[in-house]
Amino acid sequence: MTKLKKGRVFSGARPTGRQHLGNYLGAIQNYIALQDEYHCVYCIVDIHALTTMDTTEDLRQNTYEMALDWLAAGMRPEETIIFIQSQVPEVTELHTYLSMVTPLGKLTDLPTFKEKARLHPHNINYGLVGYPVLMTAGIALYKSDAVPVGLDQAPHLEFARETVRSFNFHYNTNVLIEPQMVATEFPKVLGIDGQQKMSKSLNNHIELAATPEETTRRVMKMVTDPQRIRRSDPGNPDVCNVFSLHKFFSSPEEVAMVNVECRRAGIGCVEDKQLFARNLNKFLEPFRARRAEFGRDPNLVWDVLRDGQKRASAIACQTMQEVREAIGLPKP
Ligand code: SF4
Repeated sequence: MTKLKKGRVFSGARPTGRQHLGNYLGAIQNYIALQDEYHCVYCIVDIHALTTMDTTEDLRQNTYEMALDWLAAGMRPEETIIFIQSQVPEVTELHTYLSMVTPLGKLTDLPTFKEKARLHPHNINYGLVGYPVLMTAGIALYKSDAVPVGLDQAPHLEFARETVRSFNFHYNTNVLIEPQMVATEFPKVLGIDGQQKMSKSLNNHIELAATPEETTRRVMKMVTDPQRIRRSDPGNPDVCNVFSLHKFFSSPEEVAMVNVECRRAGIGCVEDKQLFARNLNKFLEPFRARRAEFGRDPNLVWDVLRDGQKRASAIACQTMQEVREAIGLPKP
């Protein structure tokens, strides 16, 4: 029997190409799980990406690789709408209308804008200021009931909710839906340096699509408890990133064993990393098989995105008709 779903969830991610363990644990696994409870709309937000992008030469390939990884990880395109933001241009129209009810000062005061301006001082463009308005337009265009966000991102969603309320109030309508928060855990995953968040630009990542050999090679380079110099030194798993990741990919018995043996130097870091690499590679086996299946013909992924675009467009066109009507724009 088909399970009754709770409503529509929307989320977007920038096209960052091949995904890594940080992307998987931080977002993709939630995307996959939400499919069981919600009608999901997942968007590759290429327009958002343009706000901070110096060059677009890899944009198309990165979009393809990310969609391929999403599918390999378990997105079900027959249920879930997966599409590219720029291919449903209604979002830019709604962005414009929402910008009319958004005070400029509110945007420039947002900590996220200040942070982006600090990181990209050479390119503080108009799009960067309006980023949260475009984000709100994406959520509202698809009449999303809910958005998965970590607690630290709750203010972003609050901005979207306020903007929707302002629009509805301003035009005396209820055409746009105030999205609710699906409180979700987004664990911060450190890179193989054990210091900074896992990120491609820092080259401290482990790609989901890497070969088993490459995965093992990266795991063996992982920084462990810095106080553990010799094999005979007891270690502290609480400060070790290998141990943090064990918790996601190893059995509870293995995690418990490492927790005890590391502290009394009963297991060495090399041996433990080999164990972790084996478990990680085993976990990734079905992912790699699905990736090979979807990747055998690039048209498969583009067809999924084209189909997603059609389904997303149908919702967007309907919403925009209602929005134009609510605003009182002249009919064609
Ligand atoms: S034995 Fe494992 S948990 Fe302990 S420090 Fe080494 S890698 Fe980390």
